[in-house]
Amino acid sequence: MLDSRRSVPIAVETPMPHSPSHRTRIVRATGRPEDSVWMERALRLARAAGARGEVPIGAVVTTGDRTIGSGSNRPIAARDPTAHAEIVALRRAARSTGNYRLTGATLYVTLEPCLMCLGAILHARIGRLVYGARDPKVGVVEYMRRHRPVGLNHELRVTGGVRADDSAELLRAFFHRRR
Ligand SMILES: [Zn+2]
Repeated sequence: MLDSRRSVPIAVETPMPHSPSHRTRIVRATGRPEDSVWMERALRLARAAGARGEVPIGAVVTTGDRTIGSGSNRPIAARDPTAHAEIVALRRAARSTGNYRLTGATLYVTLEPCLMCLGAILHARIGRLVYGARDPKVGVVEYMRRHRPVGLNHELRVTGGVRADDSAELLRAFFHRRR
């Protein structure tokens, strides 16, 4: 019998050593002329997700002038809570380039990423993130940008608000239909 009164020994919390420079820097970056073109692709993927009954969010990963991965939100169909558009696109980009790091790549997504996706974006060493609408519920990019968390020694440049109205309208129409 297990004695529930006896405490289970747990590892003493020993922080991993890291230099003070190990700080995730999330900085604002100005938009580029091509941003709205790539965002149109992401919006198309978002619409496709919506047509399948998934929350309409789409993402595209690019390097230079080519797409290396794209995806739309599909947690219901995939039976996978991590199948957000960003994760799907990052996985495909890593597979197509044969590298788990996507250093210098740009990720376009129609909605401000959540905590999980921002984590994946940082682990992938994405250089620039471009998103559409702000997500006041689970979006964390602007919050993290202001609070400068300790983390990976990586700088992520962020441009928000690209085609934001189109993305927000898509989401509004989707949730309106579902009511
Ligand atoms: Zn997410």
